[in-house]
Amino acid sequence: MHNSTRRRRLRPFTTVVIAIAAAFIAVPASAQQDMQALYENMQAVFGLELGGRPDWDTVDVTIHHVAGSVYQIRGEGGNLGMSVGDDGIILIDDQFAPLSEKIMAAIRSVSDAPIRFLINTHVHDDHVGGNANFAAMGATIFAHDRVRVRMMQGIRGNPPSPPEAWPVVTFSDPISLHFNGEEIRVFPVPPAHTDGDIYVHFTGSNVLHLGDAFRTTGYPNIDTGNGGTLQGTLDALQIAIDLAGPETLLIPGHGVVSRRDAAIELRDITIEVTDRLRPLVAQGMSFEDVVAGRPTADLDPRWGRRLDRFLPAIYLALTNGD
Ligand SMILES: [Zn+2]
Repeated sequence: MHNSTRRRRLRPFTTVVIAIAAAFIAVPASAQQDMQALYENMQAVFGLELGGRPDWDTVDVTIHHVAGSVYQIRGEGGNLGMSVGDDGIILIDDQFAPLSEKIMAAIRSVSDAPIRFLINTHVHDDHVGGNANFAAMGATIFAHDRVRVRMMQGIRGNPPSPPEAWPVVTFSDPISLHFNGEEIRVFPVPPAHTDGDIYVHFTGSNVLHLGDAFRTTGYPNIDTGNGGTLQGTLDALQIAIDLAGPETLLIPGHGVVSRRDAAIELRDITIEVTDRLRPLVAQGMSFEDVVAGRPTADLDPRWGRRLDRFLPAIYLALTNGD
């Protein structure tokens, strides 16, 4: 989940960190090497996956022109992208099912064209939750092979998504859509946020939609439970940095439309935290002790959201010798 509204309701960060440290003291020694358990424990402490959904009626869905044929739609959950023009509409992600009507109203405020294709950037339900609704309106859903596999299995212990929500066209190699006067390149990146991450490059409009591999709201969110990795995060950010020119606009999965320097900053903070943890892991320090030492205390006020996924992912990568 990436719900900023709920995040703002969390306790002050210092308290959360102390609570995390306290929670790990209770972790049995036999479980201390189980990174998945640590990860889930941190999630539980943060309460990020346990909170209820927002009141959908109060969610404000807004649409914003980005550049060329590309728009961004904001509501609750991941940022949507949209290509609008003579060929119709391509939608990138769709947030949660209860928001589909509001999203359609926002779309209809700029275009009456049909939604021909819907591209999922990854499997999380704040990005694919409206799939069945948009499929029912005639959109053909595209996604990475792994997104369909995970939706068919269900993620995080949840039941499978309904078949109507499953992507129809799946891929693990780059594809191009020639649409609204430009080539829209859609391509997988190394497993970063999840193992089904893709980027969407609107080559004529000079816009990249990067899904949750890029965010401006905090540390990278590395969902190891769904195949995300530290190295993939660094590699995926580098791909965006190399692809973007100085004027290219980057739509993040969460946060604000940015330029290349924001991706560079996120890559660099990831390297910085990794460099801080490396000697601690080399000393054989347990994850609990790493967390208790607050190695990122000076950075957390700016970057600390999703620390529950960031630190375990880095610790896991370093203990694996990555
Ligand atoms: Zn996500």
